[in-house]
Amino acid sequence: MVEDATLNEFHSVEDDPPIDDTAEPEVRPATPTYVYLPRGVACDACGTVTQRRWTVDGDLLCPSCVEW
Ligand SMILES: [Zn+2]
Repeated sequence: MVEDATLNEFHSVEDDPPIDDTAEPEVRPATPTYVYLPRGVACDACGTVTQRRWTVDGDLLCPSCVEW
């Protein structure tokens, strides 16, 4: 006789925390200030639509227009 004493015990392992990627940068350097818009906005200087712009002297500029 074969005694198969297999117990199907399913342990619910919940040690997989969700990744929080909604964190927004709260560090604001003096200049320039980083601005991110998912839908994209035209650059004030060249008109290029970009998601990432920086405020320089009151203008929102794309990376190409920012003087690093
Ligand atoms: Zn630009």
